[in-house]
Amino acid sequence: MSSEKAIVVSDAVQAFVRRDFGLFINGGTQRAHSTRRLDVFNPATGERLASVPDADATDVDNAVRNARAAFDACIWSGLRPADRERILLHFADLLEANAEDLAQLETLNQGKSINVSRAVEVGATIEYVRYMAGWATKITGETLDVSIPFPPGVRYTAFTRKEPVGVVAGIVPWNFPLMIAVWKLVPALAAGCTIVIKPSPETPLTALRLAELALEAGVPPGVFNVVTGGRECGAALAAHPGLSKISFTGSTPTGKLVGTAAVQNMTRFSLELGGKNPAVMLADVDVEQAIQGVLVGGFLNQGQVCAAVSRIYVHRSKYQQVANGLADAVNAMTIGPGLDPTAQVNPLVSAQHRDRVQQHIARAQADGLRFLAGGTPVDLPGFYVRPTVIADVPHDAAIMRDEVFGPVLAVVPFDDTDDVLRLANDSPYGLAASVWSNDLRAVMNLVQQIDAGTVWVNSHVPLDPGMPFGGYKQSGIGREFGKYAIEGFTETKSVCIAH
Ligand code: NAD
Repeated sequence: MSSEKAIVVSDAVQAFVRRDFGLFINGGTQRAHSTRRLDVFNPATGERLASVPDADATDVDNAVRNARAAFDACIWSGLRPADRERILLHFADLLEANAEDLAQLETLNQGKSINVSRAVEVGATIEYVRYMAGWATKITGETLDVSIPFPPGVRYTAFTRKEPVGVVAGIVPWNFPLMIAVWKLVPALAAGCTIVIKPSPETPLTALRLAELALEAGVPPGVFNVVTGGRECGAALAAHPGLSKISFTGSTPTGKLVGTAAVQNMTRFSLELGGKNPAVMLADVDVEQAIQGVLVGGFLNQGQVCAAVSRIYVHRSKYQQVANGLADAVNAMTIGPGLDPTAQVNPLVSAQHRDRVQQHIARAQADGLRFLAGGTPVDLPGFYVRPTVIADVPHDAAIMRDEVFGPVLAVVPFDDTDDVLRLANDSPYGLAASVWSNDLRAVMNLVQQIDAGTVWVNSHVPLDPGMPFGGYKQSGIGREFGKYAIEGFTETKSVCIAH
C-alpha cells in the first residue's frame, strides 16, 4: 500500500471542483430545468467531490435545439475547412497548456493513475485532436464517369460530396471520460457537425472543462454542448428527433437501447461496446514480454478498458511459467490512490462498480476456481479491488464469459491451435484480441480467423488515431478513428450534371 507520495492537486483544479455546475449550452453555463443533482465522488477516498445537474428531457431538448440552430445557421460548417482545422489545432494547444490540470481533474474524478491520465487520457488525446483536425481539410468525394444512356446525345458527369451529417449526440462512458468524449467531439467538428456530449454520471467534470476550452479555442457557441445526467438523460437524448447521428460508447445492453431508440427516428448511429478479449500465447511465446504486455493490457485503468485482455490462453508448454510469472508480478503490485504516481493499482470508478466486480470474484470463488492472486478485500477507504489472477478456468465459468470490466485475468492452458481459436471466438463479443508469437505463419493464421475488430501481435491495447477501432459481433457497429471516424459523421450526396 502507498499513498504518502500523492501529488497535491493544483489550486485551479480545486477551484474548478468547487464550482456551482450547470449545463454547458450555447457557449456558456446554463442553469438546468431539472432540479435534481448528481453527486460526483473521489474514488480514492469515497468522498463527495462535486455535484452536477441530472438533466431531464427538457434540458436535453434545449441542448439539441441549440446544437440544431448552430448547425442550421452554418456558423461552423460554413467556415472554410482550413479555419475549422486551425481552431481545432488551437484547441489541441489549449489542451496541452492545461494538460496537467486536466490530468489531475480526471484522476480526482475517475480514480485512474495520474501517470495514465497524463500519458493517455490527456497526452494521447492531444495527438488525436491534432490528427483529426487535419481531416477537416482532407474530406473529399469522388468523380464518377457514369453511363446514363438517355436522352440520346446527353452526357452526364457525376460526383459525390461529403457533407456533415448534422447534429450529433456523443454518449460517453466513465472509463476514459475525457478521451472518449474527444473521440466523438473532434471528428464530428472536423466534419462540420455540431454536437451534444453526454458524459457518464460518474465522471462529468472533464467534459465540462473541455467545452470551455473549445469555446476559448474559437468553436462558436452552440456547436459543442454538454448535458450531464444519468439514464433518463441518456434515453431522452437517444430518442430525440432533432439528432442526425448518435455516437455511443458504453455497455452492450445500453448500446442496444440506444440503437433501438435511434432507429425510430432513422438517426444514424454507431456503437462502441463491451468486450471479453482473449490473448493467445503460442508455444514460442517470449514469456517475459508477454507477461509485461498482458499486465498493461489487463490492468491498465484497473481493467476498466473495453479492449482489456481478460482471457489468457497459454500453450501448455509455457503455461506454468506464464501463470507463475503473472501471479508473482500481480502479487507485488502496489495499491494506492491515482494521485500517487508510484501506486500501480488504483481505485475503480465507483462503489457500485467495485461491488459489481467483487460479485464476479465472489462467484468465481463459489465456483471453486484457483486464485493465483487477489480475491481478498483491500483495507483502504476508496473503491479498490485487488488485482486478481485465476488459473485453469473452465470455458463455461461465468468469469470466462461475462465482461467484468475490472482487474481480473483468467489464465488457461491449451494444446491445439484449432481448439484455442474455437475457444477464443466462442464469445458474443469481438472487440479485440492479441496473439503472442514470432511464428509468422501461425500468427497470420490466427490473425485472419479471430473474430475481433483489432488484433494485436506481441502487444495488447495500444491505439493510434489512424488505426480503425470498433467491434465485431456484439462489441459494436461501426468504426472510430482514421477516415472511418470522418465517414461516420458525414452523409454522401451524389450530384449528377447533364451536359
Ligand atoms: P453504460 O452503458 O452503463 O453507460 C454508457 C453511457 O450511456 C453513460 O453516459 C450512461 O449514462 C448512458 N446511458 C445509460 N442508459 C442510457 C440509455 N437508455 N440511453 C442512452 N444512454 C444511456 O456503460 P458504462 O458503465 O458507463 O461503461 C462501461 C461499458 O462501456 C463497458 O461495457 C465497456 O466495455 C464499454 N466501453 C466500450 C468502449 C469501446 O470503445 N468499445 C470503450 C469504453 C467502454
